[in-house]
Amino acid sequence: MLNEKYIKLAETLKSKFPNTTVLVKEPMQKHTTFKIGGPADIYVEPVTADIVPIINYLSECGSKYIVIGNGSNLLVSDDGVEGVVISLGRKAGEISISENKIIAGPGALLSQVANAAADAGLAGLEFASGIPGSIGGAVFMNAGAYGGEIKDVLETVDVLTSDMQVKTVTAKELDLSYRHSKLMDQGGYVLSATLKLEFGDKDEIKAKIDDIRSQRTAKQPLNYPSAGSTFKRPEGYFAGKLIDDAGLRGYTVGGAQVSEKHCGFVINHNNATAAEVLQLMHDVDDKVYNKFGVHLVPEVRIIGRNMN
Ligand SMILES: Cc1cc2nc3c(=O)[nH]c(=O)nc-3n(C[C@H](O)[C@H](O)[C@H](O)COP(=O)(O)OP(=O)(O)OC[C@H]3O[C@@H](n4cnc5c(N)ncnc54)[C@H](O)[C@@H]3O)c2cc1C
Repeated sequence: MLNEKYIKLAETLKSKFPNTTVLVKEPMQKHTTFKIGGPADIYVEPVTADIVPIINYLSECGSKYIVIGNGSNLLVSDDGVEGVVISLGRKAGEISISENKIIAGPGALLSQVANAAADAGLAGLEFASGIPGSIGGAVFMNAGAYGGEIKDVLETVDVLTSDMQVKTVTAKELDLSYRHSKLMDQGGYVLSATLKLEFGDKDEIKAKIDDIRSQRTAKQPLNYPSAGSTFKRPEGYFAGKLIDDAGLRGYTVGGAQVSEKHCGFVINHNNATAAEVLQLMHDVDDKVYNKFGVHLVPEVRIIGRNMN
């Protein structure tokens, strides 16, 4: 049962923000690449113009909320998420190009931005073409692959700070490092990002994107739901290799499994619950630590009720 407070809040959001999608008790498994997660009390997908007013409104009325992107780095509780999940997706995904700069809304998918860059003959974002995240999530995570990371191409970001000011900050000010941004420590939401790329040859850029996509298909278990690399790379090691060397390839808890194809990925092999994924992650960390004295730190963001 949804409590009275959230029923009223959903009604208010619907009437104040008619262009924004507002759903109640929305299963989060529909919005995560892991295909796992119980209901969000309220799930909203704002149009760009509503993002700041909605966050302001929720802050003013003291409601709990969390901002997500494409749900490709999330493990969401089986018990769902209390309060409002604000999903910055398709409705906030504008992309515009001027000279060698791309301005993208938070919900623009990296694949779309990388394709738009390629069509415009702009090089530098090929690394991101197979990462299934949004620009907002990619800035927050400093997403990276195949020798590139968002840090390399990011010029400025429009941010809604935790004290509700809209500011333009430079990439440098976001203190981006391996799967880290200042937003993780200080809060704040990505409203748009300006990427600065290099002029290049369209065919070469497209060939590089195709090559990276086929490398991913060959190496990653893309036919199963997952959230990509489950753990961060410990300094001096590769998480997948440590897991493999600890004898955990194919290790299973319920429906969750260490991928046989790529040990760095935990996959939803067969209707896994979040509890099973979490148990598997703990087991893997314990076994790797006992064997190699190295702890594995989750790269996936764990959210929702009773997940601490
Ligand atoms: C098959 C697969 C392959 C992957 N490969 C890679 C890879 O090569 N490299 C890599 O780095 N990652 C990879 N990932 C993980 C994931 O795609 C990235 O972390 C991506 O950047 C997450 O973006 P998202 O929009 O899905 O964010 P979400 O998963 O929705 O959210 C992730 C975090 O970002 C925060 N967030 C999202 N949007 C915003 C915003 N607008 N403002 C502030 N905070 C926000 C959320 O609160 C959450 O804490 C992979 C995932 C999958 C499933």
